[in-house]
Amino acid sequence: MTANNDYWQKARALAATGRELHARGWVPATSGNFSMRLSSNAVLVTASGYHKGKLTEQDFLAVDFDGKPVDGGKPSAETLLHTRLYRRFPALEAVLHCHSPAATVLSLLVSDNSVRLRGYELQKAFAGIETHSGELVIPIFENTQAIDELADEVDAYLDSHLDCPAYVIRGHGVYCWGDSLKACERELEALDFLFQCELEIRRCRLAPP
Ligand SMILES: [Zn+2]
Repeated sequence: MTANNDYWQKARALAATGRELHARGWVPATSGNFSMRLSSNAVLVTASGYHKGKLTEQDFLAVDFDGKPVDGGKPSAETLLHTRLYRRFPALEAVLHCHSPAATVLSLLVSDNSVRLRGYELQKAFAGIETHSGELVIPIFENTQAIDELADEVDAYLDSHLDCPAYVIRGHGVYCWGDSLKACERELEALDFLFQCELEIRRCRLAPP
């Protein structure tokens, strides 16, 4: 597959996103990975091991939906978690994965297998949600180095929760996806705000009156 204008444009857009997310402290020490759709069977994804705040357009590669490089190179270790989402959702354009402190800490505090967000105006930042009055459920999966097994677990969950906009891996970070890079960034930012609110509520409950 030859890298064309679309490839380089998306690589530059994701490199810029990487700088923003690093400035927020969400992708420390080469963690995190990003991707965008290239075609009906290929995805642009970050190469393994690069600092996400210092990405250049050269630090990406094309993979197929099985996560295999199209023209060589070594993709991020968690690439399969990206490509399974593109395979499932034909309109999907971008996936962002961060090791943000709020998602990481909240997932370690919560013993359940989900975070249930209720009553927040910002729930409306998510595609298809038009009111604060519903419940936004973000599932939490246990962390593992067996990415194939985790990808199967996420797939099984999404089979019956097609409106799920994101998920958290416990003690690890968050995966968020969208029908455009802008939509994905908006939802990731909203999710971080909501997770910080949930942490603050727990702090307030612990504080003496
Ligand atoms: Zn990760």
